[in-house]
Amino acid sequence: MTFAIHGLAVAQGVAIGRAVLVAASRVDVAHYFIKPHQVASEIDRVRSGRNAVVDELTRLQQTVAHMGSKDAPQELKALLDVHLMLLQDEELVEGVKHWIKERLYNAEWALTTQLEVIARQFDEMEDEHLRERKADLEQITEKVLRAMQGLASPVVPAPQDKRKGNGNQQDLLLEDTVDVPLVLIAHELSPSDLLQFKQGVFAGFVTDVGGKTSHTAIVARSMDIPAVVGARTASQLVRQDDWVIIDGDAGVVIVDPSPIILAEYGFKQRQLNLERGRLSRLINTPSVTLDGQKVELLANIEMPEDAATALRAGAVGVGLFRSEFLFMGRQGRLPDEEEQYRAYRRAVEGMQGLPVTIRTVDVGADKPVGSPKEESHLNPALGLRAIRWSLADPAMFITQLRAILRAAAHGQVHVLIPMLAHIGEIRQTLALMDQARAELDRDGLVYGPVKLGAMIEIPAAALMLNTFLKYFDFLSVGTNDLIQYTLAIDRADESVAHLYDPTHPAVLRLLADTIAACQAQGKHVAVCGEMAGDTHMTRLLLGLGLRSFSMHPAQILAVKQEVLRADTRQLTPWSQEVLESDEPSQLMGS
Ligand code: PEP
Ligand code: MG
Repeated sequence: MTFAIHGLAVAQGVAIGRAVLVAASRVDVAHYFIKPHQVASEIDRVRSGRNAVVDELTRLQQTVAHMGSKDAPQELKALLDVHLMLLQDEELVEGVKHWIKERLYNAEWALTTQLEVIARQFDEMEDEHLRERKADLEQITEKVLRAMQGLASPVVPAPQDKRKGNGNQQDLLLEDTVDVPLVLIAHELSPSDLLQFKQGVFAGFVTDVGGKTSHTAIVARSMDIPAVVGARTASQLVRQDDWVIIDGDAGVVIVDPSPIILAEYGFKQRQLNLERGRLSRLINTPSVTLDGQKVELLANIEMPEDAATALRAGAVGVGLFRSEFLFMGRQGRLPDEEEQYRAYRRAVEGMQGLPVTIRTVDVGADKPVGSPKEESHLNPALGLRAIRWSLADPAMFITQLRAILRAAAHGQVHVLIPMLAHIGEIRQTLALMDQARAELDRDGLVYGPVKLGAMIEIPAAALMLNTFLKYFDFLSVGTNDLIQYTLAIDRADESVAHLYDPTHPAVLRLLADTIAACQAQGKHVAVCGEMAGDTHMTRLLLGLGLRSFSMHPAQILAVKQEVLRADTRQLTPWSQEVLESDEPSQLMGS
C-alpha cells in the first residue's frame, strides 16, 4: 500500500530505488560493500563471532547448572537457553549469508540487516511473550558484533582511502552489486558514516532525525543526492527492500508507490536531469552581474579529492575545506602531521594554483571524533567544539598548523579559524601560529605564507567586528552556526527546525554588519554557510554587498545563474528594505 512520510528537504532531486535499512545498533557498525572473493571470509567472520558467543553462553550455562537454585534463578537458566536457541536459529544464519552473498554487505552490516528483518516479524506477532523475544535477539546480535570486533575485524579504512579506484574493498560500486538503485534509510547517520558512502553507492537517503543544516545534511548536499532528514519514523515504517521515492525538493518519502506515482516521478527525474544539462553550459561563463559586478563562487569541500569536483563545477577556489573530516570515523586516533600535510597538499595541488581555505579542525557537537574528551556533555554545541577543542590541546593544534603551513609551500593557502568569540582565543591562536612557524624553522622544514581568517559564527564575534578586523586578513561568515547561536535553535534538532530561520531580522542584521564592516576596511569577506548555496538568498546577499560565496560544488551553477540575472543597482535599495523589515521573508518571495 502506498503511503507518504514527511520530513525536511535537505538535498534536492528525486531518487527512486529499493530501501536499504541501516539498523541502529548500540555497537558501532561499519557499513561497506565487499568484493565477491571476500564472501566466504565474511561468512566465516560471522560464524566465528557467533561461535565465540555460543561458547561463552555454554560455559555460563554449565556454571549455572552447578549452582544451587537460590544462587541461580530459574529465569537466568531459561534466558540462557533462549539466547542459545536464537543464536543457532537457521533464519538468522541463513539471512546473514543471504545479505553477504547477494548484496555483498560486510559481515556486521549483514548481521544488523537480518536482525532488522527478524525483529519486524517479532513486532507483528500476536503473542506478547514471543514479541518480547525481540529484545533477546537484539542482545545476542550485539554480543556477536562485539565478539566480531574482538576477532580482529578488518578496520574500516579512513574516509580518504575509500574512493573508487584505490583498489581496496570499498571500491565496489552499485553497478557491481545490484542492478537497481538503492536508497538508504536510517534512524540516524553520523556525517562520517555518510562520508563512507560518498563513493556513489546510494541514490538517496532518509533519516529519522536531523535538521536542515546538521552536518549529515551538509554531507548529503555535498554528495549531490536527494535526501530527506527529520522523517521521524521512516526507519520503522519502511521495510528492507521496499520501493521508495525520495522527493528531495518537497521533503517527502513515498513508500511502495503505485505505477501512476512512479511514472509521475520518473518524469520529474528526467526534467531535473534536463535542467542540470542546461545549467552545465554555464561552467565557463564568468560570474558577473548584469551591472558588471564580479562575484567569486568558491567551493566547500570535505576531502582533498573533492578538489576535482570543485574544479569541474567551475569554482574559482575553495572557500571552506572542513578539515575535521580527516579526523572523524577513526575511533579517536587522530592523523599525524605527515598524514595531514599530504592531505592538505593534495587539496592544494588539486586546485591547480587557485586558493584553498583550510579551516582548522571543527569537531564536537554533531561531528564527534570518538575521543573520551567528548563524552557526557549536556550541550555539546556550546561545549568544547572547534577552536575551543584545538586550544584545549595545543600540541594537536600545532601539529595541524605545521601541516597546513607546509602545504602552503605548494600553492595559495588561507587558514580559517572556526568559532572564535573572545580576544583571549584570538591571541592564543596567533601565538600558536607563531610557535608553529618557529618550530618549522628550527626543524628546517619548508613552509609557505598564509592569509589568516576568522569565521564569524557566534553573535559575540559579529558584535565585535573591529577587534576581529584588527587581527585577521579576512572574515568568513558561518551562517549555519550564526543562525543556531543567534536564535538558540539546535541546528541538528528536527523538532525545532521550523524555528531555524535564515531570514530572521537579527540574523540578517549581524550578517549585513559583518559585510559592511569588511567593506569599510577593504577586507575580504565571504559567506560559507549553507545560505551561500541557497538560490533563494543569492539576490539578498548580493544586495547586502556580498561578492564572495562558498558552497558545495553541486550548487555553484544554480547560484551562478542567479548572479547572471541580478542587477545590484536594484538589489541594493531593495535589500535595505528587507533589512529594516520585521518580517523579511515576506519581501523576499518564495
Ligand atoms: C557554518 O557554521 O556556517 C559553517 C560553515 O561551519 P559548519 O557548518 O561546518 O559548522
Ligand atoms: Mg560552523
